[in-house]
Formats: sequence, C-alpha cells, structure tokens
Amino acid sequence: MISLGLWHNFGAENNFNNAREIIRYAFDSGITHFDLANNYGPPYGSAESTFGEIMKMDLSAYRDELFISTKAGWDMWDGPYGNFGSRKYLMASLDQSLKRMGLDYVDVFYHHRPDPNTPLEETMGALADIVKQGKALYVGVSQYKSQELRRAIQILDTHNVKLLIHQPRYSMMDRWVEEDGLLDTLEKNGIGSIPFSPLEQGLLTDKYLDGIPKDSRVAKDGRYLSKDDITDAKVAKVQALNEIAKDRGQSMAQMAVAWLLKDERVTTVLVGVSRVSQLRDNIKSIENVSFTSSEINAINAILKD
Ligand code: NDP
Repeated sequence: MISLGLWHNFGAENNFNNAREIIRYAFDSGITHFDLANNYGPPYGSAESTFGEIMKMDLSAYRDELFISTKAGWDMWDGPYGNFGSRKYLMASLDQSLKRMGLDYVDVFYHHRPDPNTPLEETMGALADIVKQGKALYVGVSQYKSQELRRAIQILDTHNVKLLIHQPRYSMMDRWVEEDGLLDTLEKNGIGSIPFSPLEQGLLTDKYLDGIPKDSRVAKDGRYLSKDDITDAKVAKVQALNEIAKDRGQSMAQMAVAWLLKDERVTTVLVGVSRVSQLRDNIKSIENVSFTSSEINAINAILKD
C-alpha cells in the first residue's frame, strides 16, 4: 500500500492548485491515507489548512473512505507547552489541528518523537484520553526505538488502548530500524509500520543523477535536504542502484518503495511528492514488490558503507 505525506509542497507558500491536483489524483488512484502534522507548512499549520480547504471542496462526501493522521511532538508554538510530549501540548495541538482541517476527528493521532523529559505515563495517558474523547480513532508513535516503544505499549495497555502503528524513518539508505529490531518488536505486538522518507527526500530517485534541478527540494528549500547531502559518493551509489531498477523494469523511485514493501511487516509506505507525475510513478511500485536474493545482495553490496 502507498500513503501520501503532506510534509512538503502543501504549505501556504506552495501552489494551491498543484496541491489540490495531487490530493485529487491520489484519491482517484485509490490512496486513502493522508498523513499530516501540526507543523507541516511552511508556515507551521498551513499544510493542515490547505488539506482542510481541499477536503471542503472535493472530499468531504468521502470522509468515511479516508484515513487521516496528524501528529504533535516537534516545535509548534512558543513557550514550554508548544513542543515535546506534555498532556497540555498534545491536547491543545490536536484541537488546533482539527480546526484547521475542519474535521471532527482524525483516524490516527501520533506522538511525533520521544520526549526525554516528560514521563511516558503522561504522554501515553494523553493519547489514551484523546481516543476516549473520540478525537482520534487510533494512536501511533513516531521515531520511538524498540525499548521506549515497549514501555509505551505497556502503559497504553493499562488504559485499554492499543497502539495502532509506528512511523519510523526507513529506507534502503537508512537502516536503523534493522539494527534496532523495530519490525520484530512491532510484529510481536501486532502493531503496523509506515516508513517515512522512503526515497530519502528524493535522493533515491533519478532526480539528482545529473546535478541539482532547479525545481528540487534541495534547490527550493534546503532545510532538511541540502546541497551538502548530495555527495558524489551517494550519487554514484544511486547510479548503480538505478541499473538494478532498470533490469527490474522499474524506476529508481519505484524500486526504493518496493524494497520496503517486500517485507510484510511494512504496512504501507509514506511517500511525498511535489507533482502528480511523481505520484503516478510511485504508485506503480506495488506492481512488483518481490526481489530475488541476488538483487538483494547486489543492493546491499552497493550500500554497504
Ligand atoms: P520521500 O522520501 O518520499 O521524498 C519525497 C520527495 O522525493 C518529493 O518531494 C520529491 O522531491 C521526490 N520524489 C518523490 N517521488 C519522486 C519520483 N517518482 N521521481 C523523482 N522524485 C520524486 O518522502 P518525504 O521526505 O517527503 O516524507 C514523506 C512523508 O513522511 C512526509 O510528507 C510526512 O508525511 C512523513 N514524514 C514524517 C516524519 C516523522 O518524523 N514522522 C519526518 C518526515 C516525513 P522534489 O520536491 O525535489 O520534487
């Protein structure tokens, strides 16, 4: 399954018609899951507002066909109550998100990242109460390692609330999930997974093979993926991976998404796109998600250091 994330390209600074076209194309192509967070934009909050507008114009009749998530956990507003994992932050932030999106509830509300200072009992207690209030049908966590995840599950159990899903960063080039044993932990506990940045923000596509295009995330934004990240060594690896993709009859992006979907413990893959043509490309990944062992070995050899 493929899901669409609205981290980039849906803010007030982006082209609204392009954003609308992507969402409409996604839904018409069978994508039901749209992933947001309080601070997606820029400015913060504006991706939720854009999504709310599009919901109102095009999708409100289909609310029951949609699975919409949002999150809180990173910086959102000034002061101590607009960041991390306090009950006050999570409750207030979700109320704001619902208003911006014009929704009565979200399908999943996530704690966006672990908080080293707030007791986990407080954060998980807030998630449990949010479910009991009907403001989220399910809850999830993002960026938690296995050890803290196991504690979160136990605490939620005491509230009779089940953790639905975990959102980790995971791609061919970022394998911390494998070192941590996260997918085993999730499987043991019957929890789904939804890897984010599966294309390493665009690096695992053919877009940087001949330099940095003007309309790329690196050229337009650069906050999270900068020129310095596009090293010759990485581009050489993607060139080599791209040859394997061609032999499989896939684009580089399709192979990167399929590589995640080959593992049944991966529930769905969360892609971002800046235009409809990219989404069209990525959706086709699901046509071939099996890999021979020689393909896997060749991929691992290219990426080994
Ligand atoms: P990706 O790794 O999928 O990168 C998306 C970017 O790759 C696009 O913006 C586009 O770049 C490029 N791209 C996508 N498809 C293609 C294609 N077929 N051909 C060429 N280029 C392509 O994911 P994101 O980093 O955007 O993350 C996806 C989602 O994950 C986010 O929207 C968000 O919902 C979630 N997320 C969650 C986080 C968390 O902490 N929980 C953190 C980060 C993301 P370009 O703009 O240059 O065209």
